[in-house]
Amino acid sequence: MNCYSFVGNCPFCSRPFEYLNIQNDHWAYCDKCRIKELVGKDLFPSWRVETEAIWQANAEKIRDYRCGLPSGFVV
Ligand SMILES: [Zn+2]
Repeated sequence: MNCYSFVGNCPFCSRPFEYLNIQNDHWAYCDKCRIKELVGKDLFPSWRVETEAIWQANAEKIRDYRCGLPSGFVV
């Protein structure tokens, strides 16, 4: 699986994913498991009211999170 599209609950800890925007990219992430996944681009209007400073903070927050699921993992 590449860095795209999971939504819903984290497959590791079952908690709902949280979401943030980096510009018009929407990311799902789990703080506990430190994973992230790109959900899509410009799907929700929320990013339009955010600022460069927010996106930089968001990018910093998930920068070290692992992208996606281990290969072979089936949700
Ligand atoms: Zn998790």
